[in-house]
Amino acid sequence: MIDSHAHLTSSEVLPEVDAVIERAKTAGVEKIVNIATDAKSLEEGIKLARKTSGIYNTAATTPHDVEKDGEAFFSIVERSTDQLVAIGETGLDYFYEHSPKKLQQEFLSRYFDLATKVDLPVIFHCRDAFEDLFAMADEQYRDRPAVLHCFTGTLEEARNCLDRGWYISFSGIITFKKSEDLREVAKFVPLDRMFVETDTPYLAPQSKRGKQNEPAYVIETAEKIAALKGVSLQDVEKATSQNITQFFALN
Ligand SMILES: [Zn+2]
Repeated sequence: MIDSHAHLTSSEVLPEVDAVIERAKTAGVEKIVNIATDAKSLEEGIKLARKTSGIYNTAATTPHDVEKDGEAFFSIVERSTDQLVAIGETGLDYFYEHSPKKLQQEFLSRYFDLATKVDLPVIFHCRDAFEDLFAMADEQYRDRPAVLHCFTGTLEEARNCLDRGWYISFSGIITFKKSEDLREVAKFVPLDRMFVETDTPYLAPQSKRGKQNEPAYVIETAEKIAALKGVSLQDVEKATSQNITQFFALN
């Protein structure tokens, strides 16, 4: 199994990252894509990938932090692309709107250009902003590879992502009691178009709620998808691992 999205080198996880990776491997999660969101987490991620097999890095400032940190980190990401398997997570978050919408859009544009220039795929974070994300991508990032991480949108929004050739990544949210609508979306998205992820340290699945999330728990999300689709856990593992490996060109 592969966890396609974990903040392994975030300040919350870093102090115990070796143990977290060990527990992931014991649980059968042999590869983890680490999402770096600032200079420190990227630096630690690059170190980690050098000493540990099965760890890969991506980087960008999240839409939340572009006001605070966007400019400074952009130039670091630009210089580090040969160490990365994707650009992200970038995108738009109008639900929290921690940074002004215009600035979120500006950085999304810049990351589109960077990803295209260095030929890396993009990881999107999108909340309450699909209309603008689709419009911007159609104009600036057409026919380029992308995944919508931690998808929580509607069936229609999922259809619109798939129509653009994007992948859809499901997190532990689909195991939550109240996520009936999202489970319908997971039933709808074909296995060959989906990823699984934890978004560690956030969003631990139902049986672990209240605990800090970690890549080992991605199995619970995969089990839920298997149950929803009426297939085996091995089928979900095989399909998602293949999708994720191909998308990020993992070795
Ligand atoms: Zn994330």
